[in-house]
Amino acid sequence: MLKSADCGALREGDIDTHPVLAGWVDRRRDHGGIIFVDLRDRSGIVQVVFNPELAPEAYKQAEALRSEWVVQIRGKVQRRPPDTDNPLMATGTIEVMADEVVVHNQSLTPPFYIEEDSGADEALRLRYRYLDLRRPSMLRNLRLRHNVVKYIRDFLSDRDFIEIETPILIKSTPEGARDFLVPSRRHPGSFYALPQSPQQLKQLLMVSGVERYFQIARCFRDEDMRADRQPEFTQLDLEMSFVEEEDILQLTEELYTGMVAAVSPEKRVITPFPRLTYDEAMDRYGSDKPDLRFEMTMTDVTELANETEFRVFTSTIGAGGIIKGFVVPGCGSYTQSEMRQLEETAKETGAAGLAHVRFRGAGDLAGLTDEDVVLSSGLRMPLEWSIRLATKMGAKPGDAILLMAGKPKEVNQWLSAMRSHMGKSLGMADENLLAFAFVTAFPLFEWDQEGNRWDSSHHPFTAPAEGEEDRLDGDDLGSLKSKAYDLVCNGSELASGSIRIHQRRLQEKVFQILGYSKESMDQQFGQLLEAFEYGAPPHGGIAPGIDRLVAMLAGTASIRDVIAFPKTQSGNDLLFGAPAPVSPEQLKELSIRIDE
Ligand code: ASP
Repeated sequence: MLKSADCGALREGDIDTHPVLAGWVDRRRDHGGIIFVDLRDRSGIVQVVFNPELAPEAYKQAEALRSEWVVQIRGKVQRRPPDTDNPLMATGTIEVMADEVVVHNQSLTPPFYIEEDSGADEALRLRYRYLDLRRPSMLRNLRLRHNVVKYIRDFLSDRDFIEIETPILIKSTPEGARDFLVPSRRHPGSFYALPQSPQQLKQLLMVSGVERYFQIARCFRDEDMRADRQPEFTQLDLEMSFVEEEDILQLTEELYTGMVAAVSPEKRVITPFPRLTYDEAMDRYGSDKPDLRFEMTMTDVTELANETEFRVFTSTIGAGGIIKGFVVPGCGSYTQSEMRQLEETAKETGAAGLAHVRFRGAGDLAGLTDEDVVLSSGLRMPLEWSIRLATKMGAKPGDAILLMAGKPKEVNQWLSAMRSHMGKSLGMADENLLAFAFVTAFPLFEWDQEGNRWDSSHHPFTAPAEGEEDRLDGDDLGSLKSKAYDLVCNGSELASGSIRIHQRRLQEKVFQILGYSKESMDQQFGQLLEAFEYGAPPHGGIAPGIDRLVAMLAGTASIRDVIAFPKTQSGNDLLFGAPAPVSPEQLKELSIRIDE
């Protein structure tokens, strides 16, 4: 090794030792006669002192050193002189008196400072990712990710799971996105598809008798990129045989609680994880991935709203819509202009509008007078109505009620965005709390208006809930429940899974509802359907996303900060310049012609 110690690990106990250090010049300061170099390696930074009297040769070389040069330094660890300690540095009470320095490489001036808050634009950081990753926070994220994955591997190995790799070059494995295709040179006109997930492969492994499988799997989905999505991402993919939903949920809860305690002990987790059915989640929070760090549950007040002559309400109700809202604690004294601002926020999230009732004062509802209650303009109702509304929704004097009108689906969407906004802006979302919950009993199908057909809510391999199988022939498919479940946390979906169908007949029935012909079923899923005829055991699994989880643990909003070489929002790799055109020769070999 070219080094005998790590810069950031030196402490007072190392005083009088003679380590060899190697790393990058973080900063060089010339203090008239003495040169200080902050030397950085992945463990941190230590101050190195070059004294012309003690080591004239090294001092001379140190004069030339510049940021990001790669050097090896031999020296002696000593206590810093009195009053020069730096309490902000882990190595702040010691320094290394240099005897010798070897320059291994010089560096151009980096395009941004290698420091915690470089302030550099993300595109520049991605273009020079290898420099960006030198920043301590990025290195910390990479290490955290490693710790998470290592925890998972150990946890599952201890429970007798086997890690098995599945192919990257495969056939279409639908998870609701477009496939990335790879042309085959040896089979002109034929393509591999990159797996959207190893779903069918892990199910086939259950037919193989593996019983407990996992994989840290890369998944590829060619979707229009929404914020916080990557065209390739990493999941812990997991499948078990002879299990029921409860087994998977228990295992998942144990995995996450143990992992958080091991890798991010500063984060708080509430156990047991609350469980909500999909219907409960939608009713109470307007979302199937509610942020449970704060309450603010929603109430449908269509009936009360129907007593008003407020046109927004009455016309919505007339058209089959609903009026729903939630109570914002402590915001009863908001001014007109603050309310207007909230209306703007609501509109930005797509809402048609926002009505409100503000309750000034304190005490209980019975003490309210007309002066204490302020309603949206146009919403003219007597005090008694506002009190009934407050009672139904659980509002107290001092609170505000926010209401929205529209079709159930959109109202839920708008209200949920508003709820998240209020929770965060009122500081109700504790940064150190990971509010996990399981959402269960998802619908089996959802109606795709555009395609005019039924779609799977989860994926087509998900089993119908107990007792629902007979209703697959009925005409109320939208009300069928499934054995699908999600793990959610702080407003994000972290994992989804299900108990699977394991019989050919039932699987074919579901495909048929989804609009597959016999031929297309066989063509796309023939391998799975056939395998089901050779003794497929009951099985189920889950697939926790790794990227978002690590981002949450790292306390960063962007998953790009926890991926070594991520792509931009538009799917570009700015470092390699991918995607990129290829040479005409390569295209010819693949028998591909580009239609300009
Ligand atoms: N394959 C599913 C997904 O990627 C997860 C699962 O059902 O296990 O979402």
